[in-house]
Amino acid sequence: MSGVDALSGSWGHLARRPSGLAPELSVALSVALFVFGLGCGDAEIIDAPGEHIDIHYADEYVLCDGTTAHFDRGVASVAEQLGLDLETFEHLTYTWLDAQEFNEASRFYFDDQGGWAWGSKSYGRHPLFFHEVVHMVVHQDKYDSITFLTEGIATAFEGPDIRITGAVDPPVRVDPRPILGARYRKIDYRTAAAFVSYLFARFGPEPLMELNRELRFLSTGGKLRRRFEKVYGVPLDSVVDEYLSDESCPELMTPPLPLSCLGELIPWAEEGRWVYSRVMSCGDDDVAGGIGGPYDIANISVTLEVEQAGSYDLTLISDHGLKGVLARCGGCPWIEGHEQTFEVGLTWIELEEGSYAMTLSGRASEDIPLVVQLRRRG
Ligand SMILES: [Zn+2]
Repeated sequence: MSGVDALSGSWGHLARRPSGLAPELSVALSVALFVFGLGCGDAEIIDAPGEHIDIHYADEYVLCDGTTAHFDRGVASVAEQLGLDLETFEHLTYTWLDAQEFNEASRFYFDDQGGWAWGSKSYGRHPLFFHEVVHMVVHQDKYDSITFLTEGIATAFEGPDIRITGAVDPPVRVDPRPILGARYRKIDYRTAAAFVSYLFARFGPEPLMELNRELRFLSTGGKLRRRFEKVYGVPLDSVVDEYLSDESCPELMTPPLPLSCLGELIPWAEEGRWVYSRVMSCGDDDVAGGIGGPYDIANISVTLEVEQAGSYDLTLISDHGLKGVLARCGGCPWIEGHEQTFEVGLTWIELEEGSYAMTLSGRASEDIPLVVQLRRRG
């Protein structure tokens, strides 16, 4: 029901047109190496176990060594930010399958579907579909809620892991009221995520999760309005009006922090110059991603603190086709673009003071030497 997703909208060949139907799991998952029937031949599935989540994947695939730890940190982080008790969680699984196996493992099949989550289980066609993991975290508190909140929360926390390979969607601070009661195929994830980020930052996680508990998949927009006023103590219209008109971004606001914001903090090399260099390899224990199906992707995220706002030259040097995203960890993502993409070469960027996450993405099938430099201009 909830959490049935196409890959992010920036994937041109995988438009976001998810289903609103309730998938039901018909496979039993066990430990280590096991086999399950998919109706069209059996696939051996490898288990990469973690503390909170295991990743299952087809045995002909390669999973980068840091992927499970990456998801594990993400589960703990999203749970903490949402005020949920990790100790009460079921053990989660994310199963990465090729398109055919994925479709056969999904009770309700749509050919543009990229992933889905239900309770403690999730399936996807991409090795780094953290969006589905966020759904599972929220499902530990409430399975069945209104699509606006379900997808708004998952999209607000998903981070740039998937979007990095395509254009980043622009911010969408538009009036969310027309889609409050919309369900799959009619919901705009970015609009929902921007408003959810605002509610989270301004009022904290408690009322957001309480509102999520008060609603169900079939709840209407009208019911969301009534429950909103009861939970938040103010009419939805007044909050939306402030959301649409307030250009200020108080420092105390803390928006949802995506997984990329948990990366290693890299200090500045000297005044006005930050450098990060390494060889990125799928076999490194801090690199997430994998090789399988149409995907060959390795990601690393690191963080940096910008103490002086201004113009910077961002230079990425590599013989490989690397791409990057520089994203604010903090600030007000609903007001202005939160993420900037860059490629090999020089990019001019404007940075605010604060924390940033840099995610670099290349092919998992290669060891990739890289250097990134950020230099303040003037
Ligand atoms: Zn979703």
